Amino acid sequence: MSSETETSGTPRVPFSFELYPPRSVSSEEALHDTVRCLAAAGPDFLSVTYGAGGSTGGRSLDVLRFIRTQTDVEPLAHLTCVGNSYAGAATLIREFLDAGILSFLALRGDPPTGQTEDDLGDLESAAQLVQLIDRVQAERAPYEEAPVPGLPGAARVDPRRKVNIAVAAFPKGHPRATHRTQDVEALLAKQAAGATFAITQLFFHPDDYLAFVERARSAGVTIPILPGIMPITSPARLTRVLELTGEDLPSELAIALDVEPTAEGRREIGIEWAARLAREVVAGGAPGVHLYAFNQHETVLTVLAEAGILPALRH
Ligand code: FAD
Repeated sequence: MSSETETSGTPRVPFSFELYPPRSVSSEEALHDTVRCLAAAGPDFLSVTYGAGGSTGGRSLDVLRFIRTQTDVEPLAHLTCVGNSYAGAATLIREFLDAGILSFLALRGDPPTGQTEDDLGDLESAAQLVQLIDRVQAERAPYEEAPVPGLPGAARVDPRRKVNIAVAAFPKGHPRATHRTQDVEALLAKQAAGATFAITQLFFHPDDYLAFVERARSAGVTIPILPGIMPITSPARLTRVLELTGEDLPSELAIALDVEPTAEGRREIGIEWAARLAREVVAGGAPGVHLYAFNQHETVLTVLAEAGILPALRH
């Protein structure tokens, strides 16, 4: 993550966005527009999800390459390890490094429907994937050649940049965690393996995040823990994320979305909720905010504007 800079006397709050790979050619063009709009806001990084078991592999890398070559923003690749052998995962990591991707979110991923936890492949946890990324990068030549402008054929030898390795954290506990401290222990294991920062699962109340950070800090977690914030703009999206994350129903938000008759009104409710969450976690000491963008720029940019993190949007 880049360090904070100051604009007009106010400390800049770092922010970033998560995208997913396009499912069709037409959505690929729309995603490129979204990437350009999000990049213009100056995020610290744009992350791209990866389908567990490699289901989106090539498409994820295409989006990351687009971000790297067409914008000034750091691309961050999600990588999952379920179902992969050590050799397969190492080859995948090399492919991303060769494409110039130097920031990762190392995840275990979930076993595909029909498979069990016993069928995870060689790598059983995100901590093992963190170690593997670290090892694969260490095995590469410590220097790389860069062209010298104005001197055709000449090359300058530069030290390679070290990779950033983020990991997931679960403020309200992972759905399959068996005891309350398990998620802090898992985060400590990922830190010990070499993770450089964490991004949280979405949560609905500032205290979910702030209390988790406090528990993690007292247990010895020192890496930055970036809050993941999702604007929930419809009852259908709320139902879907509750299914995926196992979070408790946030009744106040659920009722507000249910009784609001218009789609525009529901969008405003979701934006206001996410903006308040962003303001309060930043006030509570969060090192920045990471927004789940759903491959659309307007909603997340409005959230940041309403949270006072970006200047108000011009329409
Ligand atoms: P791990 O950290 O390996 O384990 C998950 C949980 O198991 C822990 O939280 C803990 O409860 C328990 N556990 C593991 N190791 C230990 C240990 N040593 N001691 C005690 N308990 C342990 N999935 C995708 O398929 N693609 C994506 O792109 C993707 N992006 C995500 C982005 C974010 C920010 C988050 C929060 C999740 C994302 N996921 C994604 C979902 C994620 O893959 C699943 O939640 C998965 O079940 C857990 O992954 P993990 O990396 O946290 O796994």
